[in-house]
Amino acid sequence: LVILGIETSCDDTAAAVVRSSGEILSQVVSSQADLLARYGGVAPKMAEEAHAQVIDRVVQEALDKANVKELDLSAVAVTIGPGLSLCLRGLDTGENSIDRLSNSRGIGVQKARKIAGTFNLPIVGIHHMEAHALVARLIERELQFPFMVLLISGGHNLLILACDLGQYLQLGTTIDDAIGEAYDKTAKWLGLDLRRSGGPAIEELAREGDPESVKFAVPMKQHKDCNFSYAGLKTQVRLAIESKNINAEIPISSASSEDRSSRANIAASFQRVAVLHLEERCERAIGWALEIEPSIKYFVVSGGVASNQYVRARLNQVVKKNGLELVCPPPSLCTDNGVMVAWTGIEHFRVGRFDPPPPADEAEDTIFSPVNEEAWTSS
Ligand code: ATP
Ligand code: FE
Repeated sequence: LVILGIETSCDDTAAAVVRSSGEILSQVVSSQADLLARYGGVAPKMAEEAHAQVIDRVVQEALDKANVKELDLSAVAVTIGPGLSLCLRGLDTGENSIDRLSNSRGIGVQKARKIAGTFNLPIVGIHHMEAHALVARLIERELQFPFMVLLISGGHNLLILACDLGQYLQLGTTIDDAIGEAYDKTAKWLGLDLRRSGGPAIEELAREGDPESVKFAVPMKQHKDCNFSYAGLKTQVRLAIESKNINAEIPISSASSEDRSSRANIAASFQRVAVLHLEERCERAIGWALEIEPSIKYFVVSGGVASNQYVRARLNQVVKKNGLELVCPPPSLCTDNGVMVAWTGIEHFRVGRFDPPPPADEAEDTIFSPVNEEAWTSS
């Protein structure tokens, strides 16, 4: 099998061609870094126009690099669930996704339908968070169900027991913000360079700081469950920044050395506590999951925040201590990418979960029309 994967659910336009053997034939990502910097975050309208501008080029480049023609493809996979907070529920119904696909008018879906219609290819609708999770099976071929997953990204914080393909038990979720959102806001308030996302900027600055210098409280200590909360930590960070008179209008590159070191201390202290919260929840979730499924061997960490080296190192310790093995995709497969969509397409296609090609005439007249705003804001 050879599948083209298309991902346009947030601010990156991505496409990739992957073989069922796990071979990645191509991987192309066009990010909206300039837009991010200009608006200090993802602006849905702008993001969609940017996708529309680059989608044809990104897909063509993925095909060319893979040296594959549309007719060589077995199917086209495309993300249809952009940052849905109810996430993996509903995927286990096994229902045909054609209705959701034809209702969804996102740029990626339009492009996928056009190719599938023109070249008579089946189409596989993919849930973005499932793709973040399952790409781990491309990296670690020994990774069999059941296994555990922590998804940490811009819009989600999820602890999941992956029982089987399409069968996911949610052990915990965030009750307010996701960790990636907390990284992004902290970066913005600290005046960091937002031409890339906030996470990597904080990770880098934190290396200069003292993680014990600012005393932030670990969220939800008194709640003995596996849920997350980052809104309170964000507020603590904002107050600390105000109390140090840090001015986000002054970019860190122009800050005095004293100012720079107090920013670095806040970044390091924030990161330490943000990750401590993850560690505590993961440890409890492993206990819960092993009671349900004692055969679990692996613990997957994926989503944009999983590309952070400090996060990986800390979670590796917790996972090992509890007798499991950590699987963490390389950074380029943790942040949004087309490979995870293509691979999840392969997983579904293999078991017969796909939709028939859309009618060619309908595929021809796909038009640019905005997707529903609500679906965007949670991503
Ligand atoms: P979701 O997957 O929830 O819909 P998304 O698709 O926007 O959200 P991803 O691309 O999966 O998000 O992840 C982006 C998030 O990951 C951003 O919040 C970004 O700051 C964060 N991130 C990326 N790299 C790092 C890093 N090195 N350290 C911390 N956070 C990071
Ligand atoms: Fe994502």
